[in-house]
Amino acid sequence: MKNIHRMLEDIKQETQSTAFLTGRKALSPEVMAAMRKVPREQFVAPGMEPMAFDNGPLPIGYGQTISQPFIVALMTDLLGAKLTDRILEIGTGSGYQSAILSLLAGQVYTVEVIEDLSVEAAARFEKLGYRNIHVKTGNGYEGWPEQAPYDGVIVTAAAPYIPEPLIAQLKAGGRLVIPVGRPFEHQELIVLEKQEHGDNKLGKILDVAFVPLVDKDHLKKWH
Ligand code: SAH
Repeated sequence: MKNIHRMLEDIKQETQSTAFLTGRKALSPEVMAAMRKVPREQFVAPGMEPMAFDNGPLPIGYGQTISQPFIVALMTDLLGAKLTDRILEIGTGSGYQSAILSLLAGQVYTVEVIEDLSVEAAARFEKLGYRNIHVKTGNGYEGWPEQAPYDGVIVTAAAPYIPEPLIAQLKAGGRLVIPVGRPFEHQELIVLEKQEHGDNKLGKILDVAFVPLVDKDHLKKWH
């Protein structure tokens, strides 16, 4: 069974081995400190605790997964949140990524389409004392307009395109980190930087494999 130190070592190693793609030989000390502090074993499904510090995704029920620690760390680093920032996350899932962000940002707003998962995540935040995370059950394609604008937006499921409302709800100068591509096909981790005027800047970081950000047709089966 691995421990948290091994998980951090694995993240460092994978950061180095992907540096030629990401341009990052190391992640920020603040991100690594947050990865050390949040107890991942509290976010995995019952019985999965022995695998909580493996550098891989794990099932959390409802056909969903808690993302791989390296990907969580990389996306957090790419987002570059500051302690005063308001961050929007789409795809609460277990709440692990939200918890990491809660240590690095001011307020975290997180939207999850599967109600059971958002209820479980909210209970976890309450139990573990993460007081600056706000959870909503809803369709992430629409963002969370009532709380906009955001300093940064992070999407933790793969969308076939970048949903327009997420760009609209981002402040100029803010970043959107999102895996884009069809489910079970080639997906790319994209960083969009919103410009005050003119075209937004787009950077492709790395090939990734995420569960899909389900669209309205698929949403029907959850409601
Ligand atoms: N950030 C999560 C990873 C969750 S996996 C974690 O740290 O555990 C992606 C999540 O996105 C799943 O829970 C899935 O239910 C959710 N999701 C899929 N489509 C969505 C949509 N349209 N709106 C909001 N959430 C969605």
